[in-house]
Amino acid sequence: MSVRPAEVKARLFDQVGGRCVYGCGRAADHLDHVMPKSRGGSNALANLAPCCTVCGTSKGSLTVVEWVTRMAVELAAGLPVAVLSSVEVAQVAA
Ligand SMILES: [Zn+2]
Repeated sequence: MSVRPAEVKARLFDQVGGRCVYGCGRAADHLDHVMPKSRGGSNALANLAPCCTVCGTSKGSLTVVEWVTRMAVELAAGLPVAVLSSVEVAQVAA
């Protein structure tokens, strides 16, 4: 018995309550490759994370550590960070 890809995707989204796994609070709308495919990441379930378009686009081909580090540097430099709302930026700065 095989499981259809759409069923697997639906189960992954259910497991995270339909929210982006990167903690931004937005609804997840696609699956991110935690280790990007361009960096050797696979389509294995352990490498797939439901996330929102904003986080997925921001992360791009970076690893999670590289992405978070880049955001920390951008925040420290006072640059806008795409994945954070203005309210969250204010909370980080407080
Ligand atoms: Zn997100």
